[in-house]
Amino acid sequence: MLFDALIIKVASRCNLNCSYCFMYNLGDSSYKLQPKFMSSDTIDAILAKTQKFIETYNKKSFTFIFHGGEPLLASKEFYTSFIEKANKLQNKLKNVSFFYDLQSNGALIDKEWITLFKKLKIHPSISIDGTEKAHDMYRVDHKGKGSYKKVIQGAKLVKKELGILDIVCVMNTEETPLEVYNSFKKLDANSVNFLVPDYTHDNLPKTKSNHTSLGTWMIELFDIWIKDKNRFKIPIFIGFLNRLMRIKENIRNESTVLIIESNGEIEAIDSLKACGHNFTKTSLNIHKHNLNDIETSSLGKLYFSDYSTKLCSQCEQCPLKDICTGGRLVHRYSQKNGFNNPSIYCSDLIDFIAHIQHYFIRCFPDLHNNENIEKINPKEIRDYLNNLPKKDKEDNERELEQFAVQNLLTA
Ligand code: SF4
Ligand code: SF4
Repeated sequence: MLFDALIIKVASRCNLNCSYCFMYNLGDSSYKLQPKFMSSDTIDAILAKTQKFIETYNKKSFTFIFHGGEPLLASKEFYTSFIEKANKLQNKLKNVSFFYDLQSNGALIDKEWITLFKKLKIHPSISIDGTEKAHDMYRVDHKGKGSYKKVIQGAKLVKKELGILDIVCVMNTEETPLEVYNSFKKLDANSVNFLVPDYTHDNLPKTKSNHTSLGTWMIELFDIWIKDKNRFKIPIFIGFLNRLMRIKENIRNESTVLIIESNGEIEAIDSLKACGHNFTKTSLNIHKHNLNDIETSSLGKLYFSDYSTKLCSQCEQCPLKDICTGGRLVHRYSQKNGFNNPSIYCSDLIDFIAHIQHYFIRCFPDLHNNENIEKINPKEIRDYLNNLPKKDKEDNERELEQFAVQNLLTA
């Protein structure tokens, strides 16, 4: 099995109430049935099943990612206990290395937490959406007050005391890419994992009349980033560049992690909560099942097979499919067709991919001439995709059936 990390939902509630949060505000309210904090019995079950999994698949490294809600709502004793037990398991297994990451909103980080991170070798990363304006547009507390000032204090402390600052940022096209980029430069960030907002075909992003498209926004950000000699790492751009140059990626993606909810339920990627109430449920629980039982659930079949190879017919016929890979699963979803759709950001992806390809061609004209690489023309690609034969109802139903069977066969 591909996965080599568990996202551990140590707390199911949050001190913030971000309006775009897939846990609380995008259609899935299943968090209300979860215990507020993970119990020590669940820790024991996770480690026992992790041991079995590592032995079965001969894993050499494994990462535990502490997550929530807000993971810093859990007690410091929780982390000490988890990692003490995990260290014992690591010693027993001998040839495996364990790593500990933590994804926090940053508002609760103080010196005591930093001391614990150092002691337990926990690597935190913090969610910041760029500038105060962009961040406070969505990342608010339960009274609707922006969290930026508190979060920045936490981020500065992490940089000062741990020497490394990794950030997760949801792209917000209502702020300029330059302002966002400079805000992270000011913090001396080491890496910014930019995320495309989680929307589906049934719940498209709301746009204002003068809005900047996501494609244009990403292009501007790319141009600023690529020209900066002291640039920080942006994984999404590195991924596109690697695929453009056909370099095999070795990074963690949606199909290399599994979620354990605070009551021990085993689930697939969190972002799919945006697809609707209870969407990520698999009926599996770490107290009763093994980690690899995820393969038996219908969501898991899709999730742990290479989902990028199961594309809708439009993506299958798209000349950019190897670079685009059809977009993330959540962006393909509609109640009508399941994941059998192109990404809602298809047009943005075409513009962005064309832009970075043109950039490369300018940088390496010889490579372009010798290899006879054709320059991508976004308009031509769009026209080609728009002119693909329209499917009638019967075609669509047949395609959905084929899609489902293909998932079963290749899972
Ligand atoms: S900090 Fe994270 S978990 Fe908490 S409300 Fe915001 S997005 Fe959701
Ligand atoms: S660019 Fe659009 S059609 Fe092409 S693979 Fe991506 S989502 Fe599919």
